[in-house]
Amino acid sequence: MKHYITAICLLAGSLLFTSCDKSSNGGKSDTSTPKFSIAIHGGAGALAKGSYTAEQEAAFKAKLEEATKLGYEMLSKGDSAADVVVAVIKILEDSPLFNAGKGSVITYNGKIKMDAAIMNGRTLDCGTVNNVQRIKNPITAARMVMDSSKYIMFSSAGAESFAAKNGIEMIDKSYFYTQHQIDRWRKTKDSTDASYIHYVDSMAALQSPIISALPEEGEFGTVGCVVMDKYGNLAAGTSTGGLINKKYNRVGDSPIIGAGTYANNKTCAISCTGTGEDFIKTVAAKTVSDLIEFKGMTLDAATYDMIHVRFKEITGDGGMIAVDKYGNISWQYNSDGMFRARTDQNGKIETYIYAE
Ligand code: ASP
Repeated sequence: MKHYITAICLLAGSLLFTSCDKSSNGGKSDTSTPKFSIAIHGGAGALAKGSYTAEQEAAFKAKLEEATKLGYEMLSKGDSAADVVVAVIKILEDSPLFNAGKGSVITYNGKIKMDAAIMNGRTLDCGTVNNVQRIKNPITAARMVMDSSKYIMFSSAGAESFAAKNGIEMIDKSYFYTQHQIDRWRKTKDSTDASYIHYVDSMAALQSPIISALPEEGEFGTVGCVVMDKYGNLAAGTSTGGLINKKYNRVGDSPIIGAGTYANNKTCAISCTGTGEDFIKTVAAKTVSDLIEFKGMTLDAATYDMIHVRFKEITGDGGMIAVDKYGNISWQYNSDGMFRARTDQNGKIETYIYAE
């Protein structure tokens, strides 16, 4: 009897140990290469196939690949999810191809006003900036808010003075203007106010030659990155110029935690792109996390539910990228395409613009 009880205790102990061990590494089996994964987007709403030239498509894919490769290299050497999100988004902000940082869209009155957010899934710490005009890489300012402030959301001139005080790189406003966004703005704007046109012309005149990278159509181009690092920690970041012709310091979903950006080690990390108001109305990123946490859905089922079921009810439009606590990646969009790329510890980088 005594032996029987001891055997039961040993069995129970080993089961307990196994289950503790599983929950501490997120349920993943041990492998010699620690698991990590990264996905990025360069905006949903890509034009219908054939609208970009082969060179333009190649340029998009090369930039997505460059950013993902950097993420892979950093994750391989053990960098944290948040560090990777910032470094990868900086590459996309610096590229004139996307609506974030250089290449951002132009507002109603001819300005460029950018938003960015980052969230750390382990601590739920987050930082966001909106309507900034002089911060070269808005994602670095969002990170600074997350790391060095007791607040979460800084706006316009206040965000800029916080960034400048903390050594974040500032740059002349003219740096962000590109010819294709100026051409788009001239077609889209619903005002003939000469002072706005004059302002945009004066910004363009400060650059020579001004960069023109794209056709004028195509509405989106926000950038985002979601990561699970070697240690099982998640992070998400998003950066955008917002919607073209926006007015009244409109703020979209990107810097709204839970709408366009969210990360929680219990569930997943998400970055969204599309019409921001739709993502705010549905609290889209947090809803995906809740579907996983409270309804037990898989990541794929949750992102599908958000973009193809819930968005249908409100005629919402856009897409999202996501990574869950096991490192699974999921992406969904209801537009013609979404610039996107992903890789994991195996290092095979996949880049796509349209449906796979
Ligand atoms: N979601 C962004 C916004 O509404 C725009 C975009 O994704 O292109 O500000």
